[in-house]
Amino acid sequence: MRKYFSAAFVLVILILAFVFTSVYAIDPKYQTVKIGLYYSSTAKSEVAISSDSGFEAGYMDSNNFVAQSTLPGTTFKVSVASGGVTINDVFYSVTNGNFALRPLSGTVSVNNTAYRGGVEFIPNSSGLMTVINFVDINDYVAAVVGKEMSPTWHIEALKAQAVCARSFCITAWNKHSSLGFNLCPTQDCQAYQGISGETESTVRAATETKDQFLMYGNSVAEALYSSSGGGSTGYAKYVWGNDVAYLRAVEDPYDLGSDNPRAYWTFTLTKEEIKAKLAKASVDIGDITDFRVTGADEYGRTYEVTIYGTNGTYVLKNDKTRSFFGFYSQKYTITGSGTESMHQPLYAIGTKGAQVLSSYNVQSATGSCNLGDFYIQSATSTKQHAQSSTQTSDSYIINGSGWGHGLGLSQYGAKARAEQGYNYIEILQHYYVGTYVQ
Ligand SMILES: [Zn+2]
Repeated sequence: MRKYFSAAFVLVILILAFVFTSVYAIDPKYQTVKIGLYYSSTAKSEVAISSDSGFEAGYMDSNNFVAQSTLPGTTFKVSVASGGVTINDVFYSVTNGNFALRPLSGTVSVNNTAYRGGVEFIPNSSGLMTVINFVDINDYVAAVVGKEMSPTWHIEALKAQAVCARSFCITAWNKHSSLGFNLCPTQDCQAYQGISGETESTVRAATETKDQFLMYGNSVAEALYSSSGGGSTGYAKYVWGNDVAYLRAVEDPYDLGSDNPRAYWTFTLTKEEIKAKLAKASVDIGDITDFRVTGADEYGRTYEVTIYGTNGTYVLKNDKTRSFFGFYSQKYTITGSGTESMHQPLYAIGTKGAQVLSSYNVQSATGSCNLGDFYIQSATSTKQHAQSSTQTSDSYIINGSGWGHGLGLSQYGAKARAEQGYNYIEILQHYYVGTYVQ
């Protein structure tokens, strides 16, 4: 009996080991990611390539480098030519796939920027070449973390960013496939400039989360992130228009800490400026009579703003409520000549001074708006002042908080949460409702 039990026990352990190995192993097709360095309008006729260790030359089979020969020398000028490439003015025939180079060890420099992995060259229809860096996904993540966050931030915030960067890489995998690579190196995808993004802390963040992804159900989650949620994150349906279960509004008071330079912002728009902006979009609703938020979620993030004119109305929806006027986020209030709130301003009277509250982001004294002990009173006692300012105003004041689309992780919020003792999994699970890390 005892012997039977032991055999069963060993079997269970073996099965568990197999299951966990399978679950935690990254799909090999995602092990190497291709990042476009020069493409479309930045495609090159020639690039300078160097490596202290020398190179292997070969071609790319999908995302895998196939070595064919060793190139003598460490510095080359590479340009496209019919049927192959020219390397230091010597023609090199390419019959399999696209020509690629990989350093024998260390990094490769492309026009003086150093990258891990290697470089692929694809001739394009303009007679120029698309230049691509192919790199191990975990090296890519370490480099992205250092460009998307400050490497000096708390390690748990960096680790949360690392999981986001790696997950985003998978869900955006085909974003630039028509150009021959997976992701671009700008904030359209994720900021990447090779090893200049690596520090001890970003490499540690990538290593300690190696091969880990943010998951929802059985799939890698779309780990969108932005600079600052401004006190709450948003709903995907109110930004892009499509509902995503785990990209939904969550409150985030940590986001508005005093070290967040993107916590609060203000715009002023005159009626003439609004009219001119509409004219640029070929919209004519006459003279502007009112401009107000007509739809916002439970935390005050706008999804509908209406502009009223003498000749009609114009409605901005979802992310247009941010992008149309170039506001920094969708989380804002509008006060001004056409709205009620300007007629009845609230004043915050503190022991150190007083100010008109044109929006009402009231928070504790540990936040960034510390007036000392304060009281809120209505405009009754200062009515005269309020009326005179209203009568002369032809402007709308837009008071907002946060920076970016506001979906998923807030980078400044993650920083503050990490400093409060939350680990990267807790941080991620706060911002992406119902997800897990695997
Ligand atoms: Zn992109």
